[in-house]
Amino acid sequence: MSKLSLLLTARFYTTVAQTRQLPRGDIPEIAFVGRSNAGKSTAINTLCQRRRLAFASNTPGRTQALNYFALGVEPNVDAYLVDMPGYGYAVAERSAREEWGRLSGSYLAKRVQLQAVVLLIDIRRSLGPLDQTLLDWVRPEQRLLVLASKADKLNRQQQHSTVASIKRTLKERRGSATTEVVAFSAPNAIGLASAKATIEAWLQASLGDREKKPRAIAGL
Ligand code: GDP
Repeated sequence: MSKLSLLLTARFYTTVAQTRQLPRGDIPEIAFVGRSNAGKSTAINTLCQRRRLAFASNTPGRTQALNYFALGVEPNVDAYLVDMPGYGYAVAERSAREEWGRLSGSYLAKRVQLQAVVLLIDIRRSLGPLDQTLLDWVRPEQRLLVLASKADKLNRQQQHSTVASIKRTLKERRGSATTEVVAFSAPNAIGLASAKATIEAWLQASLGDREKKPRAIAGL
């Protein structure tokens, strides 16, 4: 089991538009989040080696739902990958921000099953104000992986200094909480092996924890 790539077993599971639709049980979850157009769908598809598992919706406010993908050898579900709505337009406008926060914000802030968050950013924009707002919702006990995407647009030196500056910011915000930052490019496979290894290790750790202390969790 430890050799199996859980990411390669990803398949669509369900769409959640309201908190009451969230899956019950204690299956660990890893959420992907980021500003619209940051490269989240591309990263999910690349990490799972699937062409159209996740797809971008460029219509503002249209997709406010969480898309759940099941991981594990069918019919088993060992973990969920949760594709969260892009927050570009959503967080910028007050009413839309409230709407984003109602499901996604409370999901990030309260969901007990959520073990890790993968935050997609465009490396050329670094951590923007909207990403900082998003980080307010991420709890310290949740592992955080920042994928600084579109790294192919910068040279090695620029990639390195952006990653270093993001690490400094996150150190101030999150202290010793588990935080990784990786320069990432889907087309050039920059950081792909590293991102995969981190996510797979975190998934395996969550599964190990779950076996050690099985518990029933109700709802959010
Ligand atoms: P999402 O809205 O965050 O899901 O973003 P998408 O995955 O749809 O990507 C937005 C745009 O950025 C698309 O045109 C992608 O082809 C492009 N893109 C995504 N990842 C990369 C990358 O690593 N490098 C480059 N150059 N373009 C990328």
